[in-house]
Amino acid sequence: MPRSFVREARKRVAPKKERIRPIIERLAAEHADAAIALTFRSPLELLISVMLSAQTTDVNVNRVTEKLFVKYRKPEDYLAVPQEELEQDVFATGFYRQKTKSIRGAMTVLLEEFDGEVPKRIEELLRLPGVARKTANVVAAELGEAQGIVVDTHVRRLSQRLGLTRQEDPVKIERDLVRLVPREDWARFPHLMIWHGRRVCDARRPRCEDCVLVDLCPSSRV
Ligand code: SF4
Repeated sequence: MPRSFVREARKRVAPKKERIRPIIERLAAEHADAAIALTFRSPLELLISVMLSAQTTDVNVNRVTEKLFVKYRKPEDYLAVPQEELEQDVFATGFYRQKTKSIRGAMTVLLEEFDGEVPKRIEELLRLPGVARKTANVVAAELGEAQGIVVDTHVRRLSQRLGLTRQEDPVKIERDLVRLVPREDWARFPHLMIWHGRRVCDARRPRCEDCVLVDLCPSSRV
């Protein structure tokens, strides 16, 4: 959509501070099932799943971790096997060499600095090799300690279309969103955006005619 159109259309909706609550409320009603799609039973399984989810689908990760988590139960288990064996076990998630290296590095630091427990603070999670801001935000939020807002491709696209940010860089988008989104909604906000992005506000063909945000969205085509 041309930027000039978005600029023009923005004039027709209320300021973003007034729209953010109805946006969240309507999306929460529309996507009551919005939640993380990864399957895990412990903070460690959550961390590993999120690390494996880069560049692949959650369905694919769940398929791999179903067996993986039977074999690897503690941080030590990921270090007890030869590197090649772990590579084979995560092969189907893609980028298996890099992911194996990251997982083994993260497990080493977990054991050396955190008594084998997954920390909840972003700055501590970022000390784990292979854990970047997005992964740290997802893990912290799922552990009930959201300290930021996860920005993935859907959050980025919808935030821009809804006129909640003009930024392109995920870190700057997150900075805009944490100023706008009420803190108690930091954890669920990305899930609502992701599910709305998948179901309605498609990257190529947004279905504005079926969208509950149509009167709140400066990019609406109807
Ligand atoms: S009105 Fe259209 S562009 Fe705006 S959020 Fe809905 S589907 Fe996306």
